[in-house]
Amino acid sequence: MPIATVNPVDGETLKTFDPLSDEEIERRLAEADAAFRTYRTTTFEERARLLNAAADLLEREASGVARVITTEMGKPLAAAEAEAAKCVKTMRWYAAHAEALLANEYPAADDVQDAGAVRAKVCYRPLGPVLAVMPWNFPLWQVIRFAAPALMAGNVGLLKHASNVPQTALYLGDLFHRAGFAPGCFQTLLVPSSAIESVLRDRRVAAATLTGSEGAGRSVASIAGDEIKKTVLELGGSDPYVVMPSADIDAAARTAVTARVQNAGQSCIAAKRFIVHTDVYDAFAERFTAGMRDLTVGDPMEPGTDVGPLSSAQGRDDLEELVTDALAQGAQALCGGRRPEGLERGFFYEPTVLTGITDRMRIHREETFGPVATLYRVRDVDEAIEVANDTSFGLSSNVWTQDEAETERFVRDVEAGGIYFNGMTASHPALPFGGVKRSGYGRELAGHGIREFCNATTVWRA
Ligand code: NDP
Repeated sequence: MPIATVNPVDGETLKTFDPLSDEEIERRLAEADAAFRTYRTTTFEERARLLNAAADLLEREASGVARVITTEMGKPLAAAEAEAAKCVKTMRWYAAHAEALLANEYPAADDVQDAGAVRAKVCYRPLGPVLAVMPWNFPLWQVIRFAAPALMAGNVGLLKHASNVPQTALYLGDLFHRAGFAPGCFQTLLVPSSAIESVLRDRRVAAATLTGSEGAGRSVASIAGDEIKKTVLELGGSDPYVVMPSADIDAAARTAVTARVQNAGQSCIAAKRFIVHTDVYDAFAERFTAGMRDLTVGDPMEPGTDVGPLSSAQGRDDLEELVTDALAQGAQALCGGRRPEGLERGFFYEPTVLTGITDRMRIHREETFGPVATLYRVRDVDEAIEVANDTSFGLSSNVWTQDEAETERFVRDVEAGGIYFNGMTASHPALPFGGVKRSGYGRELAGHGIREFCNATTVWRA
């Protein structure tokens, strides 16, 4: 894929970039290595000062950055501004909390006496340069979610961003530099994904984190595995959204629309499969479909737009194929199911609700990365859980119920890294984020996230 800004509203290539040469990659790896040797010895206070300075800059520049994001990947401008604001909040949160999250741990003296230790402790030390392979869907947030904890822990970052968001990628490298981080602490590498293997195998790179597709995750994890390097993977999701009879159906249907079409449906934690108890199925389906039909699809720079284009022609074509396959095998479209009229030059797709899904359809098994919802009717809690778990993914999940016993059942039995009741999934700096099954492993955010790229060192003293 060329490294270029292509406006998804009309497919026009606005700017192209040459990938870094091998010599330039080598220079940056050496710079990361050198920066780490010094940066790892800085205090939490100094790191927090730098990260807060970066947060202040981003806050001041948010509206300009948001326009770049919208131009490169097509999300509505207000959503891009909200993304920048969330990044600022997360940077400040880690600046304030990292020291406590990485405080030394002291096992009770009684517990370690039989190990011969008079004093023992666990301390969290940084690992080194971490390679971050990141996607275009939240081009600022996905990077900050890694960078804020990594930098506060004393690691340094090498960003390989998605090829369709190069200007956002360059902005991020520049942001940390202008905030005062020493050269080499956070660098953007404008390289194609084919350059990742040699970077990851380089002895100076300690670990990697990847957010993206299963294929990209598998590739990075196998190379890292071969090199015995730590990875965190945040891959796709096909999150269930279960609605039980005790739910507030109006609220569940309203929230379902946002949960499905946020970011034009291109979110790993978007609700994708709507699993509804038969007693409330018709009422939910009617309100949900009405809400999906009412959305305004159009230019993401316009304030009234709810759903912008998909980020690429490929993304739109992949989604369309899943819908075509489902319709050919007997699914019915309650709304949408095609490209909107009048917007043919861009990568748009109509908000779509499909019923009559069977397990032979690709859409039942694969991630729908766009504004397409599938509806399932279930007879009871057992079947709801069975359908919710009938996926290779396990990122997050949503359940609408007021019933305490049901709540406990879902917490016990749904296979996912998160379960959100009577609301929709949203990440938060203080809550760990990540998945099970093919959604990946490891956690981001909170204390769990910052410790992923630390060496939990046992210190034993006789
Ligand atoms: P990719 O997984 O291809 O892209 C994500 C990142 O991985 C990009 O930086 C990309 O670089 C890089 N990459 C791609 N292939 C490899 C590889 N073999 N080895 C190492 N790095 C690689 O996602 P797509 O944009 O192609 O989207 C495809 C599907 O992936 C979506 O439809 C969705 O299902 C899923 N996805 C999930 C995301 C999430 O948030 N969990 C985010 C994005 C996609 P480059 O751009 O240069 O190819």
